[in-house]
Amino acid sequence: MGKFTCEFYETIKKKKRLSPDEIKKVMDIVRKELSFLIKYNIPPVPKNYERWFLLFCHLNETGKELTDLEIIGLYKEIFDEDVSEITEKEKDELSETLSNIAEKLDVIMLNLIENISVHQRNIDNHTKKLSESTKDISLADLTTAVNLVLKEIQELKQQNMVLKNEVERYHEEIKRLQKELAHAKAEASHDFLTGLVNRKRFERAVEDAIKDFHKKNYPFSLIYVDIDDFKRINDTYGHLAGDMVLKEIASIFRFYLRANTVVGRIGGEEFGILLPGVEIKDAKNVAERLRRIIENREVKLEDGKAVRVTASFGVTQVKMGDTVKSFLRRADEALYKAKKNGKNRVEVVL
Ligand code: GH3
Ligand code: MG
Ligand code: MG
Repeated sequence: MGKFTCEFYETIKKKKRLSPDEIKKVMDIVRKELSFLIKYNIPPVPKNYERWFLLFCHLNETGKELTDLEIIGLYKEIFDEDVSEITEKEKDELSETLSNIAEKLDVIMLNLIENISVHQRNIDNHTKKLSESTKDISLADLTTAVNLVLKEIQELKQQNMVLKNEVERYHEEIKRLQKELAHAKAEASHDFLTGLVNRKRFERAVEDAIKDFHKKNYPFSLIYVDIDDFKRINDTYGHLAGDMVLKEIASIFRFYLRANTVVGRIGGEEFGILLPGVEIKDAKNVAERLRRIIENREVKLEDGKAVRVTASFGVTQVKMGDTVKSFLRRADEALYKAKKNGKNRVEVVL
């Protein structure tokens, strides 16, 4: 990790209660962190949350002004891990929507921080006034003093109300943005967890490939992959572990397949691989190779444990007269056959 530090984090970790200044600093860091996570589609799971907090805290303390790319580079350097989602990030509509949302959230957080400051200054003023007015209190001044105190308390209450309303308003706004984000996700072309293309985009690629085949006789094959007994992984190790497995499988596909291959996450633990220009014999070999890599891969979990999974593969090749439906049905049949014949195997249907 080198000279990477965040003293503030060490300080606040030990404390039960944070001072207003500390709260302000936390919010300032969280504000930047949150914007970044949203902008780059980095899942806000606890691990990421802590890491990115540390990183932005470090930037805050060292006063470094880095570009987004430099920040990503620093993350890799410190945590020795790729920010895989970022490589998948494209300049498409989705990332623009996400950037917009990140910016809006940023403004909201800024306002909130400013409000906390105002509130804090008021409280300081009132406390000072109150302590001054009670210093040399005499019977004669009592009524005036009590009135003053009451007035100050009234003002404080007023301030509290304003702050409460503001917070509620922001809460509503954040809820609205969350809806917007959910909508953006639904419109997305990529799957958020694995960064692979989603089912919609994958099927469009199949449709295009079939058109190409009928027009130019350009062949292609398709592999359906379904992880075996995946439910058991979730049940035994938890949903997060299941997610790690899905990401690992996706990264295997990314690493071992050619750039012109289209890989999609077409269901929970199901993937589609479209191989342009590849005929069935080679497609079967590709599937067999992937099957073996997955079988031998240990997926490291957060708690240091490691799991292994296997997957079943159904392979088919396009033929004259195919529609998307007839073609995908054959791939389905092949996958079904692989499951029925014992899983962790490759089957072909032509
Ligand atoms: P089979 O060998 O027959 O394919 O059995 P399976 O357990 O893999 O298949 P099944 O269809 O019974 O279960 C699939 C499981 O995948 C159930 C569901 O909870 C899980 N799943 C789907 N999407 C996700 C996801 O995004 N993350 C995690 N962790 N699990 C998911
Ligand atoms: Mg399945
Ligand atoms: Mg399965």
